[in-house]
Amino acid sequence: MNRQILLNEKEIPKQWYNIQADMPNPVPPPLNPGTGKPITPDMLEAIFPMNIIEQEVSTERWITIPDAVLEKYLIWRPTPLYRASFLEKFLGTPAHIYFKNEGVSPPGSHKPNTAIAQAYFNKVFGVKRLATETGAGQWGSALAFACNQFGLECKVYMVRISYNQKPYRRTLMETWGAKCVPSPSPDTNAGRKFYEQNKEHFGSLGIAISEAVEDGATSKDSKYSIGSVANHVLLHQTILGLEAHKQLAMIGEYPDIVIGCAGGGSNFSGLALPFVRDKIHGKTLQVIACEPASCPTMTKGPYVYDFGDTAETTPLFAMHSLGHNFIPAPIHAGGLRYHGMAPIVSRLLMDNLIEARAYGQLETFAAGVIFARTEGFIPAPETNHAIACVIEEAKKAKEEGKEKVILMNWSGHGIIDLAAYDAYLSGKLEDSVLSDDEIQKSLKALEKYPKP
Ligand SMILES: *Cc1c(COP(=O)(O)O)cnc(C)c1O
Repeated sequence: MNRQILLNEKEIPKQWYNIQADMPNPVPPPLNPGTGKPITPDMLEAIFPMNIIEQEVSTERWITIPDAVLEKYLIWRPTPLYRASFLEKFLGTPAHIYFKNEGVSPPGSHKPNTAIAQAYFNKVFGVKRLATETGAGQWGSALAFACNQFGLECKVYMVRISYNQKPYRRTLMETWGAKCVPSPSPDTNAGRKFYEQNKEHFGSLGIAISEAVEDGATSKDSKYSIGSVANHVLLHQTILGLEAHKQLAMIGEYPDIVIGCAGGGSNFSGLALPFVRDKIHGKTLQVIACEPASCPTMTKGPYVYDFGDTAETTPLFAMHSLGHNFIPAPIHAGGLRYHGMAPIVSRLLMDNLIEARAYGQLETFAAGVIFARTEGFIPAPETNHAIACVIEEAKKAKEEGKEKVILMNWSGHGIIDLAAYDAYLSGKLEDSVLSDDEIQKSLKALEKYPKP
């Protein structure tokens, strides 16, 4: 049995996989909220460079990774695939459990897979500065790292509650040379509105996105950069799934079940899309996206056209959504607190190519602690949602006496989230329950928009 399945540098995939070439039903076009008509690529030009917009709308199956991006990927890629043999033994399961460790990147998650690519494409387009939002700080720190690698300035609007609770990710950003401010901030029109009402406003990802979009669109030589949800982000993340696909093939394994946690849907997609491709072409497998019960976008949110942000500055996207005014409970898995879901993931869910499950906060930390006490690595609170599902499926395999192969994306480490573990271990963590009434209330605002 192999514990670590490793690729050498030469075996790193040289192309990203674009599932838009293979989807049975295409992603519906984003709409202009004023006219209800599809937006044209040039309407995105205020916020993204054209080389990224081309990827956003491309239906080419394979997109070449530029050499300058591959060179930076080699800072931490290819990442190891592990057989979680100690977890298997602890569970007494006949299942083979594999996890792809994306926690080995400098910022500690999968996010630099797209941050490096976006910084590069902006750089060659002549952009000098990127603006973005961040929740818990993983995306902000990944973009700060990437901008530093390519010599771009970087400004990060960080949701205030996290800015106050998680100072270390801000320190990461500042160490890599980025500027980080709490959101809502007085620096933008979108932020000032909330900031002036309440200078200690907790903020939300939706508000921070509005601020960063406004900054990227209106500041000199600047663009906006997004950490998840968009088609091009999911594209860049496929590097990790293509590696895992190769790694399993090397040892003659193929997954029966592929599992990832999903906030905006990018790490899940990075792992899953190369396998969903196989499924579209006739393979039998289960693909499961895991989300928090307190932000149940896929399991409770309808498939609608909605804004990507609170201030209604983005186009309307066809996605599963809880409504753009929905502000999720302040759970520790900050990276999963988003009201919407990637349009690609949402479409695949509608077509039953993937399924979704929701887990309560306590259950996910229990799973994370089991993982830490068997495999050693301490997972990010987001990753714990995937681990809860892996454990559930491994137990099911035991009951059924089946030697199933389970593949999971280990999206990041939890070394900067120890305060959350502290709260869990001392019994202070709670499950927050979301009522259907609350969801219905925030969905009311969408009634006037077209349906996908
Ligand atoms: C940001 C983040 C997530 C959630 O974002 P996705 O775009 O859904 O992948 C999950 N895990 C970790 C460790 C993260 O940093």
